[in-house]
Amino acid sequence: MARIYNFSAGPSMLPEAVLIKAQQEMLDWRGSGMSVMEMSHRGKHFMGIAEAMKNDLIELLAIPANYKVLFLQGGASAQFAMIPQNILNGKTAACYVNTGAWSTSAIKEAGKYCEVKIAASSEESKFTTIPAAEQWRIDPDAAYLHYTSNETIHGVEFNHVPEASGLPLVCDMSSNILSRPVDVDRYGIIYAGTQKNMGPSGVTVVIVREDLVGLAPKSVPSVFNYEQQAKSDSMLNTPATYNWYLLGLVLQWLKDEGGVAAIEQRNIQKADKLYRAIDQSGLYSNPVAKDCRSRMNIPFVLSDASLDKEFLALAEQHGLSTLAGHRSVGGMRASIYNAMPEAGVDALIAFMAEFERTH
Ligand code: PLP
Repeated sequence: MARIYNFSAGPSMLPEAVLIKAQQEMLDWRGSGMSVMEMSHRGKHFMGIAEAMKNDLIELLAIPANYKVLFLQGGASAQFAMIPQNILNGKTAACYVNTGAWSTSAIKEAGKYCEVKIAASSEESKFTTIPAAEQWRIDPDAAYLHYTSNETIHGVEFNHVPEASGLPLVCDMSSNILSRPVDVDRYGIIYAGTQKNMGPSGVTVVIVREDLVGLAPKSVPSVFNYEQQAKSDSMLNTPATYNWYLLGLVLQWLKDEGGVAAIEQRNIQKADKLYRAIDQSGLYSNPVAKDCRSRMNIPFVLSDASLDKEFLALAEQHGLSTLAGHRSVGGMRASIYNAMPEAGVDALIAFMAEFERTH
């Protein structure tokens, strides 16, 4: 069966080379006589896989030596709670920027642990903008400032690192990590689930500056404690071993492709093409302000919503899958992460033009 172009927001397309490699190594990982799934996480084979994977991530993101890199479970959603649990450090408030559905979820969860001060919000614009920096109100007594660098549902992306007024800057990079270079040293914490740009679901990468490690009160469970996880190299309990291995294969693929700067150029090219096609059409439109449109998740609506069902069904027949927008916003959404080939975007644009011509 031919592979489709899968525009899912995550879990999403993986590079074909990664899937082929995983298949080749499925029964016998490099002469070990077993699958990675069957290996002890403490054995020499898996320890080697884990070390190479971590080193590749450090290299790809140029992570400075004063950061701990953790590979945890519970998804980015667990981090919504773990961040306040770990770094409030006796403070009672944290600042959050609300730019869409995922910021809103992070805010809701943090509210269980501290007072959440909304530094800025684009809710009034229905999350189609990023509030201008001069409108941000950052409380200097807050423990940290949290934002979401790419809103997967609303298709809004920061193309700059916000100013945190001296607070540790905490960022949910779930849906754009490794899609563009990032100055890690501007951040206190970067976290991201793997299921978009890094592999299948099941692992959460947490990059945390050393001064924010070791601040959690004793009541925080061990597996949720950054310090304990860092001390045990994220092996406080049995890690998601096979997913770590697949993450490693994706990172190796990204290095082979030329790294983050090279993939950024391809991402710009893919996104520019698709936005151009949408903006030039009479049928499709994207509501997001041009200076903060996401390169990863491109929502669009048809001017006649009664055509939505037919659009989706026909797209599916053309091997263009999972284009429905998130259930909370409707319309369409094309997620075009690192692994989406430019040919997939070209096929989508051609399909959209033909659909418009015939409708
Ligand atoms: N943050 C963002 C930006 C996301 O896109 C998602 C999921 O799609 C999440 C958080 C939640 O991630 P998880 O399902 O891994 O908890």
